[in-house]
Amino acid sequence: MKEPDADANPPVDGGELIRFDDVTKRFGSNTVLDRLNFSVDSGKHVTLIGPSGSGKTTILRLLMTLTKPEEGTITVAGDQLFPAPEKQVREVRKKIGMVFQQFNLFPNMSVLRNITEAPVTVLGMSKDEAEARARELLEMVGLADKCDARPTQLSGGQQQRVAIARALAMRPQVLLLDEVTSALDPELVAGVLDVLRDIARSTDITMLCVTHEMNFARDISDQVLMFDSGRVIESGSPEKIFSEPENDRTREFLSAVL
Ligand code: ADP
Repeated sequence: MKEPDADANPPVDGGELIRFDDVTKRFGSNTVLDRLNFSVDSGKHVTLIGPSGSGKTTILRLLMTLTKPEEGTITVAGDQLFPAPEKQVREVRKKIGMVFQQFNLFPNMSVLRNITEAPVTVLGMSKDEAEARARELLEMVGLADKCDARPTQLSGGQQQRVAIARALAMRPQVLLLDEVTSALDPELVAGVLDVLRDIARSTDITMLCVTHEMNFARDISDQVLMFDSGRVIESGSPEKIFSEPENDRTREFLSAVL
């Protein structure tokens, strides 16, 4: 497998890449995140687990600036993402890529164009360079022969692998993964998780991952954060969280999903 270039957007060496300080997010009277504090070090793979509705996806959406907190600060690679002036937000956002549950590919564009569009229009990359990089990434996700296909001609698993390549094409420092296998037929899940395992193993990209795939979480994570009602109630290595959870809610949650 070829490694994606990690040079254009180098990670801050070993230091803190993402930091939430006292972040509160409400939807109406529903406090979804309650003065949340956590940080993720550069190059680490961190998995967010916890019951549905505990605020995990909201954290990824805050990082993508798809929604804003009411209070607190969010910092990425030393630069504030919130609160921050619009121009700074745009710059910081370039460090972050996301793969969604529903692949969100552009249906009227070829697979290749889906991947080259943002590097050309947002990063100003030449078409040739963007295409060369897209072909490398498609090889990495096992779809080198699908450059000219339309998304509708691909299986859900293949579409999701294109979406992963598309996110990596922007050379982000951090990859956010939001339940990326939840919408897939069961037989297609393993192929997508294998691609993500390869990326976790062979690149230094930081990953923040929301998943219900506990075996996958155990395999790739350096750290697991257990959420309940918008707070981290327990965190630690996968060995600790999955084998010796200390919190009753963690134990309850894991016995329901494992
Ligand atoms: P999780 O990912 O842990 O399942 P979410 O972050 O998706 O949790 O949701 C946390 C809470 O926020 C839920 O109660 C959900 O209903 C609420 N929520 C999320 N997005 C919105 C929204 N756009 N408008 C109103 N409520 C929302």
